[in-house]
Formats: sequence, structure tokens, C-alpha cells
Amino acid sequence: QELTSTFFSRSLVPTTCTRPRPRPTSVVPMTICMDQSRKEKVVVIMGATGAGKSRLSVDLATRFSGEIINSDKMQFYNGLEIATNQITIPERCGVPHHLLGELPVNDNELTASEFRSLASESISEIASRGKLPIIAGGSNSFVHALLVERFDPGTNPFSSKPSISSELRYDCCFLWVDVSVSVLHHHLSKRVDQMMDSGMFEELASFYDPRNSRSTVRTGIHKAIGVPEFDRYFGVYPPEKSHNVCEWDQARKAAYEEAVHEIKDNTWQLAKKQIERIMMLRSSGWEIHRLDATASLRASSREVWEKNILKESVKIVKRFLLK
Ligand code: ATP
Repeated sequence: QELTSTFFSRSLVPTTCTRPRPRPTSVVPMTICMDQSRKEKVVVIMGATGAGKSRLSVDLATRFSGEIINSDKMQFYNGLEIATNQITIPERCGVPHHLLGELPVNDNELTASEFRSLASESISEIASRGKLPIIAGGSNSFVHALLVERFDPGTNPFSSKPSISSELRYDCCFLWVDVSVSVLHHHLSKRVDQMMDSGMFEELASFYDPRNSRSTVRTGIHKAIGVPEFDRYFGVYPPEKSHNVCEWDQARKAAYEEAVHEIKDNTWQLAKKQIERIMMLRSSGWEIHRLDATASLRASSREVWEKNILKESVKIVKRFLLK
């Protein structure tokens, strides 16, 4: 039996949206036929932290009537929005996001199996409404858990003896937003400074709980980059109601700088691990399309982004939906 599903390219852009409207060339309704016995179609956006996954997911969702499922394990929680780089409401451009900022911060850590079942429920529900499910986020072990046909919760697919399966339970279109190492490194360092300027220190100060910082085992959002680094700082300089930075002595300033430096370092380690894992998935048979966002990030230009990344992604997704 044939199921007709329509992915409309449409403007879902509320007045608060910071993105320009999708180009008129893509405002053509696309009707695709899906056989019920065939696998569900899913777009998967991969990339290192800071490369532009969230931006691409929203750009594609507004063009193909998509809904986004978060696959960053630190962004499931309702807290530390700055530290975990959760996409803001205006940046979402009205696109529904699932599994994003939903769990209470002190909830037990979500396991890969739980993510597999929650995200697959979201995929079915989104697809049943004729919308396109788009997975976006940097936790590649969770992406693997969600997509493989046979999932073994006891095995780390990225261990020293990788056990990555290329047998997938969805029809996937993989897009990898990649950025050259030097440009990404520079961008991430600058991004940490911007995060600190936009309130990350205050966010971490109100999250600080000496009981958690003494615990040797961290779970869930307590592992997010920024929490352990600043827990050490707050252990020496407990958060106060008012922080008058001008009154800080040299030792305090140095401790602050040290924490920021560690955050930059750990963010970079995370980015490298993410890239390495995407390359492992690719060499294990996942058909991942690589898109080079180096020029767009270097120029910090929406125009270059549209030309280098968006145009190509739209072409790839159109082809995928029509096949
Ligand atoms: P692992 O097997 O080490 O858990 P993974 O691929 O399953 O790796 P990742 O999503 O890479 O999981 O996260 C690993 C660690 O990186 C997290 O525990 C956290 O310290 C940090 N991290 C990941 N995403 C974020 C984020 N959005 N904000 C802050 N820290 C993050």
C-alpha cells in the first residue's frame, strides 16, 4: 500500500526569528510517495560542537516542514542553556524541537537505550503527521544507538575495537557540517569567551551545589563542560549574591582564568572526539555527506553559509526525499 506523504517547504518564520526567510526557489511543495513497508526517512545532522548543526537543522526544517529531535546528551535537561549551547527560542524559528530542555536537571542520566526508545517514538509521531524528522546533536554514541537495526547496550561502538553497525533501521540522509581544525579551534575559543560574556558564569554560580561538587561520580548535566571546571573555582570562591569583579584579587582572577582555560581545552577535546567518531561511522559504511563550513565560519557570513552549505544540503535532501 502506498502512503502519500507531503513535505511542504514553507515559511515558519515568526517575527522574533533571527534568520532570513527561506529562498523562494524552495517554496515548492514536494509530494513524495512512501511505501508503508519501507523504512522511515530521517535526516541526520552531524558535526563537532560549534560547527553549525543547529543552524542547518532549522534551515532545513523550515524548507522541508521538518521537526527536530535533539541528540546532544547535555541538552536533554532543563538547565544550563548557555553552558550547553542550547538553541534559543528565536533561533528555533518556530520549528518544534523534541527532547530538548525537557528533563529536570537532577533526573537520572538518560541511557542510550532510553534515548533510542524516546527518539524513535518522536520519529514515528513526527512522520505520522507528514513531517520530516531531523536528528541534530553531537552525541554520536546516542545517534548510533538510535539508528542501528540491532542495538547492544553493553557495547561501546567506538571502543578500541570499534563495533559500528552499518545496518540501520531508518532510511537516513546524513549531513556532516565540517570545519577545518584551525578555524574551528579559533571559533570555539572565541565562543567560550562570548558564552562567559552572556552569563555563563552567573548560570554556573546559581547551579553550584557543594554537595554535588564533592561527589566523585558525576551524572547527567553535572558532567557538562563548565560544571566541573567552575565547581573547583566555587569551592574556593563560593558564589555570592553580587560579584564585583573590580574587587577581585589577583589569585581569584587567576583561578577564574584557569577555569575558562580548562573549558576551552575540554571543548576542543570534545570537538576532536566528535570528528573522530563521525569519521569512524563514515569508514564503517555510513553514507555521510561532508559539507565544508570553513569559509562560512571564517567569514561569519550568512551569504557564504547559504551558498556553501545550505544550497548543497537542500539539493541532497531533495534527492533523498524523492528517491
Ligand atoms: P561518552 O562515551 O564519553 O559519553 P559520547 O559521544 O557518548 O561520549 P558526548 O555527547 O560526546 O558523549 O559527551 C561527552 C562529554 O562531553 C559529556 O559528558 C560532557 O562532558 C561533554 N559535552 C557534550 N556535549 C556537551 C554540551 N552540549 N555542553 C557541555 N558539555 C558537553
